[in-house]
This record gives sequence, C-alpha cells and structure tokens, in this order.
Amino acid sequence: MGRNTRLVLILAAVFLAGVAARVLRGGNRESRVTFPALGTFATVVIETPRGTDPQPLLRGADSLLRHLEMETGCFPGQGVEALNRAGRASLRELDPDLVRVILLSDSLHRATLGCFDPSVGPLVRAWGFPDSPEVPDRETLDSCLRVTGWELLELDRDSLVMRPGMMLDFGAVAKGYAVDRVFEYLRSRGASSCLVEVGGEVRCGGDRLWRVAVRHPRNRGYFRVFAMESGALATSGDYECCLVRDGVRYSHIINPFTGFPGDGAQSATVHAPTCAVADAFATAAVIGGREAVEGFGPVEGMGVLLLTVGEDGEVSSWSTGVLPDTL
Ligand code: ADP
Ligand code: MG
Repeated sequence: MGRNTRLVLILAAVFLAGVAARVLRGGNRESRVTFPALGTFATVVIETPRGTDPQPLLRGADSLLRHLEMETGCFPGQGVEALNRAGRASLRELDPDLVRVILLSDSLHRATLGCFDPSVGPLVRAWGFPDSPEVPDRETLDSCLRVTGWELLELDRDSLVMRPGMMLDFGAVAKGYAVDRVFEYLRSRGASSCLVEVGGEVRCGGDRLWRVAVRHPRNRGYFRVFAMESGALATSGDYECCLVRDGVRYSHIINPFTGFPGDGAQSATVHAPTCAVADAFATAAVIGGREAVEGFGPVEGMGVLLLTVGEDGEVSSWSTGVLPDTL
C-alpha cells in the first residue's frame, strides 16, 4: 500500500470516527460532523432516510470543501493566490467555482454600494489580519488605497486584468459560497434536511425547524436565537478577529473608501435565500451601517439585523426586511 493511500485511509478513518449519528422520530437518521475548512471549522448536519448510508454524502461534502478552499481561499500556488500572482487570467482557464465567485462579487459590489470590495487585499495585508495585526502608517494606507477599488479591474466575460499591486481577497464571500455549494450538493444527493455551517455562516432547509443563534457582540452569550425553516444567515462583526490599541477596537472588516476598519455597526446579521449573498451583505453592512443598508440593492426575502454598541457598552438593535422568527 502506497504512503498516500495509507494517509488517505487514516484521514478517512478519523473523519468517520468524528460523525455523530442519532435516529430521529419517523426513522430518519441524523448525522453530524465538524471538520476544519477555509481557515475555520465547517459543520454539516444531514437527515437521511432509514437504510441509506450517509457516509458517501459526508465524504462528498468534505472533498467539495477541500476543493473550494484551494480555489477560493489563499492556498499557496492555487486559485486566488495564483491569480493575484499572475495579475490576469482568461476566465475559461480558471476553475468554474472561482469564476462564479468573481462574477457574483461583481454584482454584490454594486448591490452594496461598493462596501463589499474584494480588492481590499493590500489593505488587509497592511493591517496584518489575521496573524499579526498592527495599525499601518498613513503612507502605507495611501499606497494601498491607490490600488483598491473593484472598478480598477478590467473584467469582462472572457478575462480579468488587475492593475499592478492589486490583490483580491474573497474572504468575505468564500465561506458563504462554500456553504451554498455544499448545501446544494447534499440536497441534490438525497439529504431530506440539512444544515451547513462554515465559520458561522449558515444555510439550512428541509422539513424541520433549525435553531440558529446570533452571538452577543460583547459577551459570550447569544443576542438572539432564530428559528429557521430554510434559507441562509450570516453574521459579521468586530469581535471575531480584531486588534485593540489604546482602547480602540480595529476589526478585520476594512472600509475600502477609507482604508480603516468599518464602524457602521458592531455586528450585522443578514438573512437571505443564499449564503454567499448573506455573507457579502453582512460584511458590507458592518462598513456602511444603517444608512448604507437602506440603500443596498433589493434582494427578495432579505432581512438585516444591525447591532451597535454605545460607549457605555449598551447594545442597540435595528432591523429591516424579513428576518426569521425569534425563539
Ligand atoms: P468573517 O471572516 O469573520 O466571517 P467576513 O465575512 O466579514 O468575516 O469577512 C472578513 C474578511 O473579508 C476579511 O478577513 C478580509 O479578508 C475580507 N474583507 C475585509 N474587508 C472587506 C470588504 N470591505 N469587502 C470584501 N472583503 C473584505
Ligand atoms: Mg462576509
């Protein structure tokens, strides 16, 4: 047996050992598994009819996530990283998932009035998120801002050309996109109900209610718990990945117009039919806050919950559109 085969078998064994299963009323079986993906953790919960083996579906979800991580994350020498290095690409030669993320980002950028902008790559790097965050000096910010702006890309149906120094970062949409892809894969392969979550971005569906909680932005508890039948919920906030300097909190969500972390809201939760849209809108809502959200492009079935934290630590909420029922 070759070394690689053995390694794959060991990984598969570890993967299978991590699956928690239980039989539900009506005889359906629920399987739940969590594994590392896209720099965070992914959880998949599926319900399958009695007598069907859930393992092929769970393994399929895992390998789909591996593929998406390579193409849409920052995997060295692959996908986005290779694109940034080359500075140009023929869309026919890129992976179809990466092309979909690029084209989707193009419309999400316009729908969010420019707040969602994957060209923030140089700014994100200058701020050092996530590994070694530091406040950059003015000169660095200015030079990053000169190569920030989705409009600076030449993008048409065949090709993409970046300006020298530009760097794309799909971190604000890639997890949501992965959730959608895995969710649709599982449903098309016979999961009667399922929930897919990657790094807090969730999509669920089927014939049951799912409880999805939104974290409190300043303590370990929950701010609200939603009961969802179907659809997606994504949250962005200044508490997950941030730097505190001289009492000022700087988050990893960067305003592409100023180069500074977004401060329109401290937490934004977006409910939408698909998770890629919810993910990008949640990031954009943290930057733009209420005023911008009111001008964002309409998405049918969308709802937004914004939380702001006052100087006294008091949390205020504001919402618009269609949110799931609260438990
Ligand atoms: P999380 O990763 O915590 O779920 P988000 O979905 O809001 O948070 O994504 C934040 C990531 O998106 C950042 O780490 C960065 O890579 C990227 N990013 C930061 N600011 C923007 C922006 N204005 N538009 C698009 N992507 C952004
Ligand atoms: Mg996001």
